[in-house]
Amino acid sequence: MAVENTLSAGAILASKRKIETKICPVCKEEFEGIKKAKFCSNKCRQKDKYQRNKLTQ
Ligand SMILES: [Zn+2]
Repeated sequence: MAVENTLSAGAILASKRKIETKICPVCKEEFEGIKKAKFCSNKCRQKDKYQRNKLTQ
C-alpha cells in the first residue's frame, strides 16, 4: 500500500520534471534540461547574471 503511494507520487514528480530540449540564451547551444532550467550550465547562468548586473548599474 505504502509502496503504491510512493510510486504514484514519484510518477507525478517525474512528469513535472520532464526533460526538454532548450536553447541556452547565453551561448545559443542546445541542451536538455528540466522545464525550469534556463541555461545549459552554471557558467552560462553566472555569465547572464553578471551581464544583467552590468546593465543595471
Ligand atoms: Zn550556455
